[in-house]
Amino acid sequence: MTMPLRFERFSRTVHIEGTLHPETPLHVGAGRSLDVLDPDSPIVKDPFHRPVIPGSSFRGVLRSTAEMLLRGASPEGERLACLGVQDMDLLCCKDVAEEEEIKARGNTDPVLFRRLLDACCFACRVFGNVHMASKVRVADLILAEPDSWSGEYLRNRDGIRIDRRTGTVATGGKFDYEIVAPVPTFAFSIALDNPTEGELGLMLAAFDALNLGVAGLGGKRAAGLGRVRLIWSVREMTAEALLRGDAEGALLDEERLRACRNSLAAELKGFSSCGPAS
Ligand SMILES: [Zn+2]
Repeated sequence: MTMPLRFERFSRTVHIEGTLHPETPLHVGAGRSLDVLDPDSPIVKDPFHRPVIPGSSFRGVLRSTAEMLLRGASPEGERLACLGVQDMDLLCCKDVAEEEEIKARGNTDPVLFRRLLDACCFACRVFGNVHMASKVRVADLILAEPDSWSGEYLRNRDGIRIDRRTGTVATGGKFDYEIVAPVPTFAFSIALDNPTEGELGLMLAAFDALNLGVAGLGGKRAAGLGRVRLIWSVREMTAEALLRGDAEGALLDEERLRACRNSLAAELKGFSSCGPAS
């Protein structure tokens, strides 16, 4: 399937929808609280004090998991997934993006934009970077069954910081953090704009890695938190379907999803041979 350059033409959107089932407690932190009634590190909650997993957090986990897989798949892994998220000096398209004409007209001139796109690693093409919009949109994850929510699922745990030199508890090292017990499930919805088959395959591979425990969600993972299981379905909405009044789109079956996974291997092979220099 030939995909448009980026967003100037709508070809298709792929929606991945499903449920996230925590298998161990979750701690998706909202930052340090100064409220004396709160734990030191509360989780993110909605106005009704029910837990929410920000879409940006889930998207970040999907990205870091996909990058990890891409780097592990090839000796030239950083060509597939640069380290620009950790260090801007290592961003794949940094040199091209800093060229004067790209800075001036890169967003409006298709030829210049193509140069910028060609300089990007596979991960940045999918998830974007400071110079490139993302193809991936992730909504906040809310409770799948809010009516069965109970405040008893929120608990506080104590933690301590160890002084590495002495091996004892550091001065002022006691703290507490909030967790959600692995009871409620969360609903998620992800949209991929104009993905190639291989890019969809990459997203499915990241889902598999999460289900296998290769990656997790939220903080305190070294303490065993954040193990999740995802159940999902994939629906495709094409421009042709919308133009003929079909707003439902088509559910992709297992055979088609397997083909997407196979396409990823072929696309990565092609990318490594003609992608940007590392
Ligand atoms: Zn990159």
